[in-house]
Amino acid sequence: MPNAAFNVDRARADTPGCTEVLHFNNAGSALPPQPVLDAQIDHLNQEAHLGGYEAAAYAEDQLQHTYDAIAQLIGAEAKEIALVENATRAWDMAFYGMDLGPGDHILTSAASYASNYIAMLQVAERTGAKVEVVPSDTHGQIDLHALRNAIDDRTALIALTHVPTNGGLVNPAAQVGALAQEADVPYLLDACQSAGQLPLDVDEIGCTMLSATGRKYLRGPRGTGFLYVQRDWIERLTPPLLDLHAATLTSPTSYRIRSDAKRFETWEGYVAGKIALGVAVDYALDWGLDAIAERVQHLADELREMLRAQRGVTVYDVGTRQCGIVTFAIEGTDAHAIQQRLRTDGINVSVSPPSSTLLDAEARSLPKLVRASVHYYNTSAEIERFGATLNQRFPMRNG
Ligand SMILES: *Cc1c(COP(=O)(O)O)cnc(C)c1O
Repeated sequence: MPNAAFNVDRARADTPGCTEVLHFNNAGSALPPQPVLDAQIDHLNQEAHLGGYEAAAYAEDQLQHTYDAIAQLIGAEAKEIALVENATRAWDMAFYGMDLGPGDHILTSAASYASNYIAMLQVAERTGAKVEVVPSDTHGQIDLHALRNAIDDRTALIALTHVPTNGGLVNPAAQVGALAQEADVPYLLDACQSAGQLPLDVDEIGCTMLSATGRKYLRGPRGTGFLYVQRDWIERLTPPLLDLHAATLTSPTSYRIRSDAKRFETWEGYVAGKIALGVAVDYALDWGLDAIAERVQHLADELREMLRAQRGVTVYDVGTRQCGIVTFAIEGTDAHAIQQRLRTDGINVSVSPPSSTLLDAEARSLPKLVRASVHYYNTSAEIERFGATLNQRFPMRNG
């Protein structure tokens, strides 16, 4: 029996929000476990009582531990990790740090996150580089044959979203990595929805750069994220923004950019959040990413099955391998209306407008979707209650 060993009761007991809400918005911002909350509050108290700089000095080891924990999570080295405000800024610091010029090709997929794609368009406009969207295969994932055919001498970057913000899809990140390595092309992976949900190993994936956020499947604080840059690439990327932490003035007319991934950071940051992010990573590692992935997938499959059995409900998920993000629409009912109605029943879901993944949304004619994203602390009983509430609130579907 799958997940028989997973101690859901302990997971829920560790999660204060579980007694308040039925939280199916883990792809938006997951409920943090108590240790993550405690780490933040403890540090905020230290700041209030000792002074912000003094508290940071006392917490130096804890702060350093966050780099080590993230390195362990993704199979990297601590010096390859930068702590930043969110996944978008992490991705940006790598992407805008690349030296792209006229004729360079950026290869990406249809499920690209809108923020990333906007940045690609801006850089294309500025530099004359070209963005090429590799088509999806019949399963909705990036078409690996098309990708192989698209790679040539002009390819300067492959930018892939591992798990898109909606649609259930898990892109074949490691197969893309193998193609990128074969062609010796840098590979930037948006792991925002996969970090904390699926096992990640940068060597196995073969990515050069990877971005992620704290608050989603990692269950860390809002306002935190990280960037990984493979050690040989750190000094090949020029951060688009510099400060006195990322670089040092060496004379009145010169400066030197630091040689580790901290060159992508800023001096000021949310110290309590950075410390708590490390606690969140430890917490995830303690459960084990294989066990987490298995339980999340099991629950999501159950949720899809329940939804497909409802008349008037269409599940829009694709992919040969599907994750914890479930997207659906109810015939004749606006997704925002469903979200608001459910919120009054203590159920959290989110809405994915077509603009969040425009290329995919247009290709598949997606309407505004309700996104119900599960985590390991959710339960079959919650899925049942979710179905019963949908039935009760939108009874016309059964007529
Ligand atoms: C949420 C999300 C992002 C952006 O993360 P932020 O932390 O909000 O910057 C990037 N990519 C994907 C696939 C996402 O779902």
